[in-house]
Amino acid sequence: MRGVLTVRARVALRALLLAAVVVASGFLAWWSWRTSSALAALGERSVIESTVLLVREKIDRVEATVIAGDNAVLHLVNPDDLDMLAQRWPDLSERISPTVRSVLVLDEAMRPLRLVAHRDDDDRSELAGWVTGRLRAELHLTSEPLGAHRHWHGAVDGRSVLLSYLTRETAGRRYYVVLEADLDYIRRELLPKLFDDPLARGRFNITDENNHLVVGRSLTAAGEFLVSTRFPTTLYKWRLAVAPRQAPELEARARRRGVVEGSYVGASLLVILAGVSFLLFAARQEEQLNTLKSDFIATVSHELKTPLSLIRMFGEMLAGERAPTPEKRAQYLEIIVRESERLSALIENVLDFARLEQGRAAYEFTASDLGAVVLRDAEAFRFRAHRERPALVTEIADGIAPVRLDARAMQVLLFNLLDNAFKYAGDTDVVVVRARQEGARAIIEVEDRGPGIDPEDARKIFERFYRGRAVRSGGPRGTGIGLALVKHIARAHGGDVTAHAASPTGTIFRVAIPVDG
Ligand code: ADP
Repeated sequence: MRGVLTVRARVALRALLLAAVVVASGFLAWWSWRTSSALAALGERSVIESTVLLVREKIDRVEATVIAGDNAVLHLVNPDDLDMLAQRWPDLSERISPTVRSVLVLDEAMRPLRLVAHRDDDDRSELAGWVTGRLRAELHLTSEPLGAHRHWHGAVDGRSVLLSYLTRETAGRRYYVVLEADLDYIRRELLPKLFDDPLARGRFNITDENNHLVVGRSLTAAGEFLVSTRFPTTLYKWRLAVAPRQAPELEARARRRGVVEGSYVGASLLVILAGVSFLLFAARQEEQLNTLKSDFIATVSHELKTPLSLIRMFGEMLAGERAPTPEKRAQYLEIIVRESERLSALIENVLDFARLEQGRAAYEFTASDLGAVVLRDAEAFRFRAHRERPALVTEIADGIAPVRLDARAMQVLLFNLLDNAFKYAGDTDVVVVRARQEGARAIIEVEDRGPGIDPEDARKIFERFYRGRAVRSGGPRGTGIGLALVKHIARAHGGDVTAHAASPTGTIFRVAIPVDG
């Protein structure tokens, strides 16, 4: 009962360990995935944050330049001396307000008082029409608080227009000033100059409300890492976008991360699972082998006990002179001799097997006549078997080329095959031993008319300690080491052993070893 519990406990422990290893490796995979994602996200965030700073700085500078230009012109506007504006500003404009294209001053009743363009040849007469007509409602000039500097940005007749405007009052008289920005100048001069630094060069653009490029170039390669912001105050219909310098790399890495890192984690998990499965498999094998070994020890002990008790029993009968007739005495003696032979054969087999297991099996090969060796061993076996049935028939072909063999090992091989044939073929009539040459190989066959080998067993019968299903409980006794020895000896001779079904019933064990030369 204790053993059963221990085995169960061991199985449960193993299942628990396996589950723990799987959970732990899953957790490890998840953790490394999370950490690497967090690190990557951190890197991405810092890149994006520095790009956002760059974008803000550029936007502030554009807006500050536009507003500074506006203010410079507004200083020159005096409703009582508008001639001064018309005379002085065009000459100064290039220097103090290159971003302003024209100035419109309107009286309280929204009647134009003066319109001045910064270049004489520039006719901006349409501006007054826009301000008093189609844009009047949008600008709501008259309702703005005094001195509040406002901007309007939009499209007029398909062209982008930026207006700055404010309401002023002098000596109780209200008037309105509207400035039209020189968007051509801003686009051609101001913006390219602003972005002509190593940080931003080639990595920015400005798009209008229809997503058309105003300046710069297309930045689609930056993908999701593109940082874009609207101008907050002046050119608010436009959007400034900057691609981080590392954008292509970040894009590629983000794409790679899904596939490559995912497969790394998957592959590591697979390796761990394969390792665990292998360990489990090895543990199972080990356990099976241990069971086989314990069975082997039990069987060997039993095998030793039976002949020993027979020897002892008949020995005691002889010693106590309890054999009634000379025939009986002869019979008892024969039993004692036969059982001693069985005993020494068994012990020899076990010792041979132990030597082989410890890697101490030593062979001495000499070129020999295989036919003669087989014949001699078969006769020796016949003598040892003390049995009439099955009849042992030998079919030895002539002219087999010499074979390099270890005669003692060959006898162990043959005795084991014959022992099995006699043991498993029961009361059948014949066991045939053959020796012949096939090409460069010498063949030894032992054929019986027994029940044959269960196909389920066929693959395993040459494994050490393995015993057929049919014989394990109740069949002929055995240790499960005979065929393992046979196989080892056949291989040591450079050959091999195979089992085949005989017709109509029975088994043929065929040993093939190379002939000498
Ligand atoms: P053992 O005979 O001690 O069980 P072996 O290694 O000699 O061990 O044989 C392994 C198994 O092969 C046997 O248990 C038996 O099931 C099967 N076997 C061997 N020889 C024969 C045979 N001649 N006929 C039928 N089954 C056989």
